[in-house]
Parts: sequence; C-alpha cells; structure tokens
Amino acid sequence: MEKSITVTSNRLKQSIIVKDLLTRKLSEAGYNVSDKIENNTKLLISIGGDGSFLQTIHRFSFVDIPVMAINTGHLGFFAELSPSQIDDFIKAYINEEYFIQKISPLEASIRTKDQCVNITAINEIVIKNVKSRTVHLDLQVDGIKIESFSGDGMLISTPIGSTAYNYSAGGSIVDPNLNLLQLTPIAPMNTNAYRSFTSSIILPTTSVIAISPEYHFENSILIVVDGTQYKFTHIEEIRVFKSDKRINLLRLNGYEFWTRVAEKFL
Ligand code: NAP
Ligand code: MN
Repeated sequence: MEKSITVTSNRLKQSIIVKDLLTRKLSEAGYNVSDKIENNTKLLISIGGDGSFLQTIHRFSFVDIPVMAINTGHLGFFAELSPSQIDDFIKAYINEEYFIQKISPLEASIRTKDQCVNITAINEIVIKNVKSRTVHLDLQVDGIKIESFSGDGMLISTPIGSTAYNYSAGGSIVDPNLNLLQLTPIAPMNTNAYRSFTSSIILPTTSVIAISPEYHFENSILIVVDGTQYKFTHIEEIRVFKSDKRINLLRLNGYEFWTRVAEKFL
C-alpha cells in the first residue's frame, strides 16, 4: 500500500503555493497526499509559522505520528525547512536521513465550581486576569504552599516552549533534553502589600503544580494555551503537570537545538 503524508497549511497565499508544490512533488515521489490522517499516514507536515504548527498539532489532537513544519511565517523556530529546501527534504526523507525528537506537552486540569476540563499545551499555559488587572494566585507544589502571587500572570512552560513567551517574560532557555517544568512570573509585584518570587521556578516533571485564584474583582480567569485563550468562571483549582501525550518531531540529520537557538535569536 502507498504511504500517506498529511499536508496542511495556513491561509497565506505563499503557504498555499508551497502546499501545492509540495503535494505535487510528494505525489511524484510515490506518496499519497491527504488533508486528513489516513490509516497509513506516516508524516504530518504543517506549512506556515510556529503559530500554525501549534494549531496543527492541536487540531489533530496530538496524534502520535511524526510531525514537521515548513516555515513560511516570521520566526519558524519549530520548522525543519524553508520552502526552497523541499527537494532536499524529499531525498533525505526517502533515504531516512532523519531522527525523531520526542517532546512532552503540559497538561492543565481546570476544576471550576461545576466542571473539570483538561487542556494540553505544547509551549505553555498562561494564567491571567480577564481584564488588564492584577491576578492573585495561590501556588502550591506537590501539596506545599509556595507563595501568594500577585501580578500580570503566571506562565508554565515546557522546555520546547521555553524560547517563546517564557523567554520574553525573563525565563530561561531550556535544552529540550531536560525533563522539567518552568514556572515564570509575568510582572510579579513585590511590595509591602504583595510578595512573589521574581525569577522562574524550575521543577521536575514529577511535580504537580496547583494554582488557585483568589478573586478580588471578578470571578473569571483567562487560561491561554499556546496563544489561544479560554475564559473560565469560578475556577477552584488549576493543576499543571507533564502530559502522557508525546509529540514526535521529525528532525533532519544535522539538527541541533543550540545551533537553532543561536541562529534564530542572536
Ligand atoms: P505570535 O504572536 O505570532 O507568536 C509570537 C512569536 O513566537 C512568533 O514569532 C512565533 O513564531 C514565536 N514562537 C512560537 N512558538 C515558539 C517557540 N516554541 N520558540 C520560539 N518562538 C516561538 O502567535 P502564534 O504564532 O500564534 O504563537 C503562539 C505563541 O506566541 C504562544 O505559545 C506564546 O509562546 C507566544 N507569545 C509570546 C508573547 C511574548 O513573547 N510576549 C506573547 C504572547 C504569545 P512564528 O513567527 O513562526 O509564528
Ligand atoms: Mn505567529
């Protein structure tokens, strides 16, 4: 049976052109190209920027086949290649000159007065006030009270997400070979009235982070998952921990995390 490859793209004209080109070249190389995941799908390719890549993984419900991005966006930190490298990629793919980088998403279990919702994140989960006001959050780790946070929000990042919002908020860049959760405060207040840690806290992935809002102005909280926001009312507790799901990123031989970081950031 023919092998299938799923190709998706964002709506930008350039992405659609690349999608058509890639579809033609993969078909010529003997692959069946589809918009959906088929029984024999071996690879999922997202054409766009990092934002579309994150959305693709969410849309396909963290499917466990290898995934790869072709960058037509701005940064393209996740991307393996640019559109000009499609021919080289197909050759390398056929010759199996690649490896799979396994990454672990985060899971947030959100318990409100009347429901419990689970959300998975690739980069990060951010907890904020719905309005541009301070948010007050009680933080516990493994059942131990750590602090009462006040500020703009709390961000919990995966190693692969550490270069995104986490980095802008002053968090550290983490080598994805490390298994950890990084909790980074966003504009924490430190006064006689409020005290919170000003640096990130690094925790092992065996830890469970529990955050409970203290409502001062209204009973709603924003949970932002990889850039998509959800509003919840009457949250009692948010538990954040390493997900059981795995994302299999296809990396061409020669990929190296720190080379990529230096190229994209310096
Ligand atoms: P966006 O506003 O276009 O994303 C902001 C930038 O982050 C884009 O340049 C994006 O790359 C890049 N990016 C995404 N994931 C990354 C990663 N793991 N490492 C390094 N850079 C990364 O929104 P979006 O494209 O939908 O992406 C969602 C992400 O934006 C969120 O997960 C969050 O991390 C990030 N964000 C950052 C800030 C901030 O830095 N202050 C604020 C809100 C959200 P592309 O250009 O290729 O899309
Ligand atoms: Mn983007």
